[in-house]
Amino acid sequence: MTESTLTLPTGNWPAIEPGWVWLCGAGPGDPGLMTLHAVNALRQADVIVYDALVAPEILQWARDDAEKIYAGKRGGKPSAKQIDISLTLVELAQQGKRVMRLKGGDPFVFGRGGEEAQTLIQRGINVRIVPGISAGIGGLAYAGIPVTHRDVNQSVTFVTGHDQTGEATKTLDWDALSRASGVLVIYMGMKHAQSICEGLLGAGRGLDEPVAIVSQATTPNQKVLETTLGTMLDDIANTEMGPPAIICVGRSVLMRQVLDWQALERGEKPRNLDPLGRGKPAELRD
Ligand code: SAH
Repeated sequence: MTESTLTLPTGNWPAIEPGWVWLCGAGPGDPGLMTLHAVNALRQADVIVYDALVAPEILQWARDDAEKIYAGKRGGKPSAKQIDISLTLVELAQQGKRVMRLKGGDPFVFGRGGEEAQTLIQRGINVRIVPGISAGIGGLAYAGIPVTHRDVNQSVTFVTGHDQTGEATKTLDWDALSRASGVLVIYMGMKHAQSICEGLLGAGRGLDEPVAIVSQATTPNQKVLETTLGTMLDDIANTEMGPPAIICVGRSVLMRQVLDWQALERGEKPRNLDPLGRGKPAELRD
């Protein structure tokens, strides 16, 4: 086996056994957000079955002779059916290959990783799961938005904006979701932004409720739109926010006024050192 040129810190890194499938998260975009276990898998895999949201740089780290199979559902290429992807993985494993299944973000967060792993296990294939940084956490962090913040929320709700058929999710109980958490993080929500917005307003969230939309988070093309429930639909229409995008609803969005570390890196000053108007950070009030 030719190894890729990637090196890992010394340690007892597990080997992918022939016939195994490692289901790995690639993180939200920035290749530096991959885990060391995922890097370890990349160095060894005979074949990598990857999704559209996996950054091309990451694939360049694979062995030169590794086979790379695209199984994405975007980019104008014909879409692969979920079951066909799983069966391809089964077939590759049965051929005795060391298989890496690489998915954007975390494989078990709105990524159908559970379905793929279940099919594999049902067919007797050995599986290892390598979690990744999910866009709804890491993507927001790159935008300077803490997904929980002591002055704002004690829980966070992750929501998908559409169901398996691609339709706006009719099963979502916006009243309950809205009551449950101060902060909602919505994946795959852009196509149905209108129904999401109406759902939350109908559930009693205010027109001035802060909203951030982070597109292509953690990549060089990251864009952040700070808006409110009252203005988000107009703002989306007037701004070019390409997919993929995360919608974050709640007052933790305001923290970006002080925590937008990428703006600070560019030499900008913080816009507001105390955006929640608490006088001091929570940790100094204890
Ligand atoms: N398993 C992935 C989510 C897959 S669902 C994860 O844990 O992140 C696909 C959705 O994820 C997209 O529609 C978008 O809402 C979100 N997403 C993934 N990567 C993103 C990125 N770099 N920036 C913004 N949103 C992203």
